[in-house]
Amino acid sequence: MDLLEYQARELFERFDVPVLAGRTATTPEEARQAYAELGSGTVVVKAQVRTGGRGKAGGVKLARSEEAAVETAAEILDLEIKGHPVDVVMLSPGADIAEEFYFSILLDRATRGYLAMCSVEGGVDIETLAEERPEALVKIPLDVDEGITADVARRIVTEAGFPEDIHAPVGQVLQKLWTVFKESDATLVEVNPLVKTADGTILALDGKVTLDENADFRHEEWQQYDETTGQVDLERQARELDLNYVKLDGSVGVIGNGAGLVMSTLDVVAAAGEEMPGKPKPANFLDIGGGASAQVMANGLRIIMSDPQVKSVFVNVFGGITACSDVANGIVNALEMLGDEARLPIVVRLDGNSVDVGKAILAEADHPLITVKNTMDEAARTAAKLAAEGKN
Ligand code: GDP
Ligand code: MN
Repeated sequence: MDLLEYQARELFERFDVPVLAGRTATTPEEARQAYAELGSGTVVVKAQVRTGGRGKAGGVKLARSEEAAVETAAEILDLEIKGHPVDVVMLSPGADIAEEFYFSILLDRATRGYLAMCSVEGGVDIETLAEERPEALVKIPLDVDEGITADVARRIVTEAGFPEDIHAPVGQVLQKLWTVFKESDATLVEVNPLVKTADGTILALDGKVTLDENADFRHEEWQQYDETTGQVDLERQARELDLNYVKLDGSVGVIGNGAGLVMSTLDVVAAAGEEMPGKPKPANFLDIGGGASAQVMANGLRIIMSDPQVKSVFVNVFGGITACSDVANGIVNALEMLGDEARLPIVVRLDGNSVDVGKAILAEADHPLITVKNTMDEAARTAAKLAAEGKN
């Protein structure tokens, strides 16, 4: 679960990481109130969305008066940043930045350990830095039990090349960020930028935190996080329908049962698409779980087909407890329920429990939108090809 910046800021504050004051607003009038609470002078108005590069997209702006703050908040609340509607903005006192640094702690799946990453060249896009000047980004594996002790902190700031005079204050902040990471069961804590202000104070100016949902049983306080804020519209609708849906950027809609199967379906579709013109990619993740009723299938198809990027749909089902015959009936009935809303070709691959009956049901229905393929590879190629041709 990804936190919004203001939620990360609150979490930092709870663990004594130095941050600036922050007030959120969902309307221009609330922004006026927020400005009043902060005092006076220059504030920064920041879009609260779960995506990076807000600055470049016009989602982080300075405002020098109450009127300017209200106006800027109205503008930013109207934005959509990389498909994410801005539902909330945060106002903070403007910081007088002297230097910007980068720091993060993450779960590194490759080494099955924790990793600290740090650079004195912060504020910029870190992927770009890692690619263009990898030597400017130090990576230090952390011992899981030890974390960031004073010694480890010293090593990080030394290797990253921080000026001597701020080794101690920066090191203290890194130790506190480790506490945030550990106590919050996070898989990512990123601060970009970590800044030194003109008067020499070290501050976490932007925070990105991902929490490990496996640990939610021991964090009652996580219930306050409403993940629908700033969510892509389709994801919001899917959530209301109880669907496990994540929007991606491609043109092949994917429906499957079981997270593992859906993930491998995404891989197979992406691989098949590589060889086609325009390289079609998966448009979404959608796991309809067990018991694919007509209603669930119809809901899933409706969400996928209302994504204007989608050109074809791949339904990939392995019948275990759920029989393929039920799924086949679900698909046929769903198409009936959708009527004209079902506008895209659907490639179906069924296997497992009652597969023959399932296929017979689809053959019998003989629906013009449905193509049945026997293997996952064949079906993925067909779906990708239909998307590449953009047949609607
Ligand atoms: P991001 O683009 O989504 O990473 O948003 P950030 O919160 O990191 O802001 C982007 C950039 O805006 C920062 O790197 C700073 O250069 C600048 N910025 C953010 N807050 C302030 C502020 O309070 N004062 C000043 N002068 N610049 C700020
Ligand atoms: Mn940032």
